[in-house]
Amino acid sequence: MSSEVVVSSPSTDEQQPSPATQASNSALKKVNLLGMSRAELENFFEKLGEKKFRAGQVMKWMHQYFVTDFAEMTNISGKLRAKLEQLCEIKAPEVVHRHYSKDGTRKWVFRVGDGAGSLVETVLIPAEDKTGLRKTLCISSQVGCALDCSFCSTGKQGFQRDLTPDEIIGQLWVANQSYMEDVPVAERTRSVTNVVMMGMGEPLLNYDAVLSSMYIMLDDFAYGMSKRRVTLSTSGVVPKIDQLAQDIDVALAISLHAPNDELRNELVPINKKYPLAQLIAACQRYINKDGNESARKHVTIEYVMLDGVNDSLEHAQQMIRLLKNLPSKINLIPFNPFPHAPYGRSSRNRIIAFQKALSDAGFVCTIRQTRGDDIDAACGQLVGQVADRTRRAEQWKKKVAERNEIMRSHG
Ligand code: SAH
Ligand code: SF4
Repeated sequence: MSSEVVVSSPSTDEQQPSPATQASNSALKKVNLLGMSRAELENFFEKLGEKKFRAGQVMKWMHQYFVTDFAEMTNISGKLRAKLEQLCEIKAPEVVHRHYSKDGTRKWVFRVGDGAGSLVETVLIPAEDKTGLRKTLCISSQVGCALDCSFCSTGKQGFQRDLTPDEIIGQLWVANQSYMEDVPVAERTRSVTNVVMMGMGEPLLNYDAVLSSMYIMLDDFAYGMSKRRVTLSTSGVVPKIDQLAQDIDVALAISLHAPNDELRNELVPINKKYPLAQLIAACQRYINKDGNESARKHVTIEYVMLDGVNDSLEHAQQMIRLLKNLPSKINLIPFNPFPHAPYGRSSRNRIIAFQKALSDAGFVCTIRQTRGDDIDAACGQLVGQVADRTRRAEQWKKKVAERNEIMRSHG
């Protein structure tokens, strides 16, 4: 598939007010262009009475040169620039905190609404690989998450809301722009090489916005990322995996975490709705959708190592049986503890023994390095500090305290 992606726009409805009317109806509310896919932007320009190719031009200014001021868009006529200025804006979400670690890891906290529960985080993790320096950005898709996996601090926050496309792509925009602040416009480039949708939230439960954002990531007029370098991670929303297979070609990661239904029901509750057999079958369908040119030669299996819970050699054997017909690469993730977490991280020896069992059975199995510890940056565990926010967190803390009390009273 070409990385120049064209999507059918949801806004072709002739009943919709024109962009000019939309903007003047709410004098203060300008239309934010940042989160529009090419097809949406083309549609927008056509409704303004302009040529479609303007969309590509503006996309390049926004996503490749990080220009937010229409006045700087020199290949666009003064008249159109003035019109755009009046009606539109290019706006990434507000950065309320950022931290750049000594090891190159960068973290941003964004405010995406009012109140304490409206913060999301994005982490950039650099690493050397055979193709050079990789910069992987871990992007959030929702504020909080409804799925409540038992080892995940985001889940403990409960679900607040879906992020909009401009808030999702805005994370990539800010990360790229952070390397270009002092670079003259004409010399600017894009630094982020890989994106993983592994921040806060379940991306397949915010499907449309995530899809729009991934179209922008792949689009040559925007980030032009290789489809193999954009990975969507899901805890297993089976029908949406099938829909994704139809809509876009990106790499897929599955948060497995348990090799049998009984344990997975406990750790990843969505398993009660879509048990392992269904999930593995959906992964097979995803891989088989396209031929060799796709990003789908295998799925990545993520497996968080929880001490004494899912890390025995028996679990490794179950995993070998479960995955024997699925082309996959396994990534073992040392558990990232957070306040009041009812789990501990498996010891290094236990993780290595688990890895060896899988490697001996012919699987490619790696152990995720924990990085950015000095700024508390770890994918999937982004807002540990805000875990106490919601009632669910309160109830959960009570449950843990009760359990600790029972264990104490039993000596
Ligand atoms: N909701 C999606 C994507 C976000 S979570 C999903 O679950 O796949 C990204 C990854 O981080 C998942 O594999 C998740 O299980 C993992 N994760 C969550 N909490 C973690 C923790 N405390 N320590 C290590 N990994 C964690
Ligand atoms: Fe949600 Fe993923 Fe955390 Fe589960 S692991 S609660 S799906 S963010």
